[in-house]
Amino acid sequence: MNESEQQRRAYLQAMDIDIWLPRVSPDIDDVPAVVDTDVTTAGIDWETLQQRVAECTRCELAQSRTQTVFGVGNRDADWLIIGEAPGAEEDRRGEPFVGRAGQLLDQMLQAIGQSREAVFIANILKCRPPNNRDPKPAEAAACREYLQQQIDVVRPKIILAVGRIAAQNLLDCSDPVGRMRGRAHALGDIPLVVTYHPAYLLRSPSQKKKAWSDLCLARRLAAESRP
Ligand code: URA
Repeated sequence: MNESEQQRRAYLQAMDIDIWLPRVSPDIDDVPAVVDTDVTTAGIDWETLQQRVAECTRCELAQSRTQTVFGVGNRDADWLIIGEAPGAEEDRRGEPFVGRAGQLLDQMLQAIGQSREAVFIANILKCRPPNNRDPKPAEAAACREYLQQQIDVVRPKIILAVGRIAAQNLLDCSDPVGRMRGRAHALGDIPLVVTYHPAYLLRSPSQKKKAWSDLCLARRLAAESRP
């Protein structure tokens, strides 16, 4: 078994997946080149959007943050992963999902043939709520325009909402994840799948099988999505 096969098995194992499930290998050549000329529907280019987020003072979180966390990855990605908000480590490093939950998210992506570099990862909030409290509705509302502009530029084939806060905000509902996961939703014309937050999966590993099935659904919808 070569090194990459060993690695792939380790990712699947981290998701409690039996290794005989179908193989999809990430292929670096499949990652589209970054397009510098993309603009949001408001006519703002990516760099300007980044700058606006970095300087944002739309809500009180601007006072307590170390820095904004814009998002990371490929702005031309097929997959857009949306989480809740930066935690302490993300606030310190300026990158989403870099703690233990982030490591599991990376493994989930690898298991599905994706990678942190191939997808784009963002959050409902660009700033850390103090003491990791839930985002307030006003904070999510203030931040929504930035996320929408990111969605407009990335134009992903699939959005994966990880966790209750992301799913409820994106789908504008108050259902628990258990009721939202396992089926196809849409944000405009973009298919959207809800799954458990990796931090929850770390606490409840028995739910990983359901998360795997959500990832497989998302992969199928992305394949059926516009070319
Ligand atoms: N949890 C999230 O939802 N987002 C992050 O960036 C980190 C942890």
